[in-house]
Amino acid sequence: MGVPRMQQPDERRDMVERQLRARDIVDENVLRAMERVPRELFIPEPERRRAYDDAALPIGAGQTISQPYMVARICEALSVRPGHKVLDVGTGSGYQAAVLAEVGAEVVTIERIPELAEQARANLAAAGYDQVEVQVGDGSLGVPDRAPFDGIAVAAAAPGLPETLYEQLRPGGRLVVPVGGPRAQRLEVIVRSPEGPAVVHSVPCRFVPLVGEEGFAG
Ligand code: SAH
Repeated sequence: MGVPRMQQPDERRDMVERQLRARDIVDENVLRAMERVPRELFIPEPERRRAYDDAALPIGAGQTISQPYMVARICEALSVRPGHKVLDVGTGSGYQAAVLAEVGAEVVTIERIPELAEQARANLAAAGYDQVEVQVGDGSLGVPDRAPFDGIAVAAAAPGLPETLYEQLRPGGRLVVPVGGPRAQRLEVIVRSPEGPAVVHSVPCRFVPLVGEEGFAG
């Protein structure tokens, strides 16, 4: 009560201007996609009014929906183009998967916590992205039967370069993953090249841990 609330499309435009464009996001496809995806539909009711805050927010099961800036950063680093097949590891709310689908990618996403995967399916359907394939399992091992991928986005922190995910990239494909300790990481962009992994270090970040075979112990 009290403070008049902006309409959601305005809040969304404002988020794109202040949190993304004013920082360093330049990919127009990504900016346009984030202006279209209704982020509030991916956030549980108690936190929904904060949907356009410059922050990660709790989504249950001790997990978070990523900060809008990190979602944009990951999408931009992947260089997603319409028709690309992309794997999104750590579905969470499904928001990142929706943004990738809005950019025009064919999206496969995998989540280890079944209740979150279930909720993400419902969120994606409510927002009109029911073409996204949501799987349940250990995404640190990728989704071998859907490989190879043009891009793989990991929304959870890995202790090192996840080899199995790298192997599921098409030549020239990109893997974007936060690498480091459980409390602080750097977002790394790894390109599959004939000479082996070409790693570009990017921004410092803080993600929830990737729990699994090629992640941290659960
Ligand atoms: N992109 C999501 C971020 C969710 S947070 C969003 O914007 O909502 C990261 C998610 O990764 C959590 O839901 C967590 O449960 C999941 N996760 C962690 N380790 C995983 C693994 N090995 N396989 C699949 N999902 C995993």
